Amino acid sequence: MKIAEVRTHILDHRLGRAFESASMRFDRRQHCLVEIVCEDGTTGWGECLGPALPNAAVVKAYAKALLGRDPLETEKLSLELYHLLRDQGQRGLTVTALSGIDIALWDIKGKRFGAPVSVLLGGRFRESVRAYATGCFRPVGEDRIAATVAEVTEYRRQGFHAVKIKIGFDVEEDLAVIEAVRDTIGPDMRLMVDANHGYDVLEAIALGKGAARFGVDWLEEPVLPEQLGAYQAVRAGQPLPVAGGETWHGRFGMAGPIESRCIDIVQPDICGTGGFTEMRRIADLAALHGVRLVPHVWGTAVQIAASLQFIAAQAPNPPRPRPVEPILEFDRTDNPFRQAVVKTPIEHENGVVRIPDGPGLGIEIDRAALEKFALKEADA
Ligand SMILES: [Mg+2]
Repeated sequence: MKIAEVRTHILDHRLGRAFESASMRFDRRQHCLVEIVCEDGTTGWGECLGPALPNAAVVKAYAKALLGRDPLETEKLSLELYHLLRDQGQRGLTVTALSGIDIALWDIKGKRFGAPVSVLLGGRFRESVRAYATGCFRPVGEDRIAATVAEVTEYRRQGFHAVKIKIGFDVEEDLAVIEAVRDTIGPDMRLMVDANHGYDVLEAIALGKGAARFGVDWLEEPVLPEQLGAYQAVRAGQPLPVAGGETWHGRFGMAGPIESRCIDIVQPDICGTGGFTEMRRIADLAALHGVRLVPHVWGTAVQIAASLQFIAAQAPNPPRPRPVEPILEFDRTDNPFRQAVVKTPIEHENGVVRIPDGPGLGIEIDRAALEKFALKEADA
C-alpha cells in the first residue's frame, strides 16, 4: 500500500448573519479537508483546524514527503513531518496541517483493516456520547441577551443536557447574559462559559467569582493561551474550574499547561493538536496528571467523526462502575456544509450522538457537496 496523491478541499460559505467570539468575528465559514489517495484506490479523509487556505498550503508542503510512502506507518510519518518543519514550526499551522494528514492516514488504516479507528486505538468503551451544544456567540447588530435566551431555549427543547455560551466581552454584560441563561434553562441543565481569551487576569477572576452562583461547570480560555502564569492566577483566584487547550498543539505544547496545572480540564482539538497520533499521547499525559479531557470540536462531520472515534476509545479515568463519561462538543452555529460533506449526517437525538462503527472514521464523503461548497477563486 502506497500513497499516490495528497489533495486539499477548501469549503466556503458566506454567513447571512455575522457573529463574534471575544477574539474573532465570523462572517464566513471556511474549512480545509485533506484527502489522501493510495495507489490501490483507498482514500482517507482528514480535516485541519483553523484558517483553510494557509492550512492547505502547509499540507501541500508536506505532501512531497508522503508520496510513495506506506500510509499505515502513522508513527513514522507523524514524526518525519513534524521534524520537517520543527525548527520554524512546533505549533500553529505546521501542526494543524499535520493533524489533517494524520487523521486521513488513520482513516486509511481503518479501511485497510476493516475496523473503526476506535478499535485500532484499543477498543470502544462506549457506542454513544452525550453532546453539549456550543453556540451563543454575540450576534452583530442584535440584542445579545434576547438572542442568547432564544438560542438556549431551543437547545433545551432539543434535549441537550448542557450548553456552552460565549463570554469574554465585558464582565458586567457577560454576567447579565449568564444570569439570563440560567433563568431560562433552569437548575438542571449544565452550563459552561467560553471567554476565547478575551479577559485579562483581573477580569477573569471577577467573572469567575460573579458567575459561581449561577452554577457554571467550567470557565474556558479565560486569558491568552501563551500566559501560563496568568492561567494559574485565574485558577487560584476564583472558584470555577478552568478549561483550555484548543490552541495548544501536540504533546510538547500540552506538557507545560498540564504539568503546571494551569487547567482542570484540557481541550485538545484532534484537527489541531496532531491527529490521533498526538491525541493519544495527550490523553496519557492528562490521565497521568489527573486532568480531565474534553475534546474541542469546531469543524465539519469529518472532524466530528474523528473526535467520536477518539471519544469511543477514551478510557474512563478513574474506572468505576459509573465513571465520568466524556462529552462531545457539538457546534450549533450556522454552517451549511458541516453535515452536507458526508452522506449520512452525524446528528444528535435528544442530545445524544451515536458513534459510527464503520471502517476508519466511519463516514462516506459526498463529493457533490465538496463541489457545491468549494471556495471559488474569486472569493479566495
Ligand atoms: Mg473555546
